[in-house]
Amino acid sequence: MSLAILQATVADAVHAVIDAGRVSAARGWVPATSGNFSARGQDGRIAITASGVDKGALTAADVLEIPLDALPPAGSSAETGLHLALYRRDPAIGAVVHIHSTHATVLSRRQASAREIRLEGYELLKAFAGIRTHATRLAVPIFPNSQDIAALADEVDRRLGSAPPAPGYLLAGHGLYAWGATMRDALRHAEAFEFLFGCELVGAAA
Ligand SMILES: [Zn+2]
Repeated sequence: MSLAILQATVADAVHAVIDAGRVSAARGWVPATSGNFSARGQDGRIAITASGVDKGALTAADVLEIPLDALPPAGSSAETGLHLALYRRDPAIGAVVHIHSTHATVLSRRQASAREIRLEGYELLKAFAGIRTHATRLAVPIFPNSQDIAALADEVDRRLGSAPPAPGYLLAGHGLYAWGATMRDALRHAEAFEFLFGCELVGAAA
């Protein structure tokens, strides 16, 4: 199963991206061609979705294979730079998932001025790699949304440098970035974040 492959070949990474798009579309996380997915291949190249395609019906022709240190090529998503910045900063990251899910979009907007969401006391925090108890506080950074992807990537890199290791961050009113050692980990993290953000919203409304 390609979602679980660590240090996959680029061909495996392409399949992981295709599978991730299908799974995420089925969950309603990538409406109207939004979102993007990437995975790191064994040779260091990154397989990443092209711009403006339906993520639920990806084929290999919709997935670009790009070098980590080159500028994003024509046809790549505007947000490719955010994916590449994560791979450059942490060699343990094997896959990155970016979704425009409902709870992430609403909660990131509502909490934008606080610049983070603190998740604590939830059993599901154990879904995140390395967390063994609900008695954990996970701070998820929120960044103002921007169309200047290069500047945004720099800001993310600076702030994540000193933050606790939440495997994700939010762009306000936009969506979630989540990552993991494998695509399966990245998707599990995205699902856990989306569930926990929903809990925060329901709890605030109660
Ligand atoms: Zn986006």
